[in-house]
Amino acid sequence: MKTIHIIGMGPAGLMAGTELLKRGFRVNFYDHKNVPARKFLVAGHGGFNLTNADTLADFVDQYDSELIRNAVRQFTNEDLIGFLVDIGIPTYKGTSGKIFPEKHIKPITVLNKWLDYIRSFGNVLFHFEHKLTGFDEDGLVFEHQGTEKRISKDNGVIFALGGGSWAKTGSTGEWLSLFESNGISVRSFASSNAGMETGFPDFLKKYEGSTIKNALFKLGAKSRAGEVVITGYGLEGAPVYYLNGEYRAGNRQLFIDFKPAFEVEKIRSVLENSKNVTEGLKQLKLPHFLIDYLKSELTKEQFLSLEFLARKIKNVSFEIRSLRSVEESISTVGGILLSSVNADFSLKKYPRFYTIGEMLDWDAPTGGYLLQACFSMGIVAGRAVEK
Ligand SMILES: Cc1cc2nc3c(=O)[nH]c(=O)nc-3n(C[C@H](O)[C@H](O)[C@H](O)COP(=O)(O)OP(=O)(O)OC[C@H]3O[C@@H](n4cnc5c(N)ncnc54)[C@H](O)[C@@H]3O)c2cc1C
Repeated sequence: MKTIHIIGMGPAGLMAGTELLKRGFRVNFYDHKNVPARKFLVAGHGGFNLTNADTLADFVDQYDSELIRNAVRQFTNEDLIGFLVDIGIPTYKGTSGKIFPEKHIKPITVLNKWLDYIRSFGNVLFHFEHKLTGFDEDGLVFEHQGTEKRISKDNGVIFALGGGSWAKTGSTGEWLSLFESNGISVRSFASSNAGMETGFPDFLKKYEGSTIKNALFKLGAKSRAGEVVITGYGLEGAPVYYLNGEYRAGNRQLFIDFKPAFEVEKIRSVLENSKNVTEGLKQLKLPHFLIDYLKSELTKEQFLSLEFLARKIKNVSFEIRSLRSVEESISTVGGILLSSVNADFSLKKYPRFYTIGEMLDWDAPTGGYLLQACFSMGIVAGRAVEK
């Protein structure tokens, strides 16, 4: 029986192992933590958004690289939903097409059912507290309880070591220098799907915790409608996460259209037909945050010019000072450059070694697209090992 070593027991590694076990391989899993998939469980806090119900064409559009799109085409959202049903996790479609485990099913139950399924094949070993500290063409080096342990690569190795955020879950990104010193091209981690720190005036701090709903957020060449939460430092929420890439590309001025469904003329007419401007702003159901902002930032003439005010409501701009730290972000870009791997995720320099999941340099928004890509890469690498 052929043996494959999988380092990293997050969703990418577990899915690669599942595929290999189905194909009759013996699988040895390793992780430096003493439990598997801690970030996977963190992702489940407040709703376990495992994938999305988009059509495949819309789904793959969410990724910034053809390599990842190709993996998702080979193991799609529908395939994943089918797999989850097979292991005893029925799902349902929530708002914006997000796919969740049925309401009574906790994240730990999803993980445990999956681990039970993996164990049911028999030919599997879990090695915890094994930190990968080295590798070469022949094999792997681990640090285990203070001692160095070398193992042969046997029939192949899959690295699934994760990105660089939420180090406490095990995804420390420390492996970056190890791969770099082995001649693999890497890039430092940067925040993705992270909150934005804005140059809000201090008096708006009292709105911390309130939401801006149904607005359109624009940064650089991209825009996204939705809801964000005002925090002590700026903004959090799916639309600003989506715009992270535009920040990383150098854009700093965020524009918010607080009434995207209304043309300037319509806003103006509501203001004109109200008792006074303040009353008109209330009629437009604008957030108090914005009303306060307009009252304090505009001159009296600007505030009383209905045309100016209507235009401003559709185009308020704030400076973005930074993204929240890598450590805090939902995902990271950076890691192993996609140019270092083949279409099946084997390393060009070490063809028997595969790298999958968030340790590769790709990007996608939240909404189930991150996990789906990790699952899909696991399947593609698992199938490729057999070939
Ligand atoms: C707060 C939060 C919410 C999220 N919500 C969602 C969501 O709703 N939907 C979605 O699609 N995605 C979500 N994600 C993202 C998703 O969880 C990650 O993209 C996914 O877990 C990455 O999977 P992975 O297998 O590549 O890596 P990871 O899950 O990071 O797993 C990597 C594993 O490698 C191990 N490891 C690392 N270094 C070593 C080493 N040197 N030796 C041995 N083992 C090592 C780690 O301990 C870990 O177990 C969320 C993430 C966070 C932080």
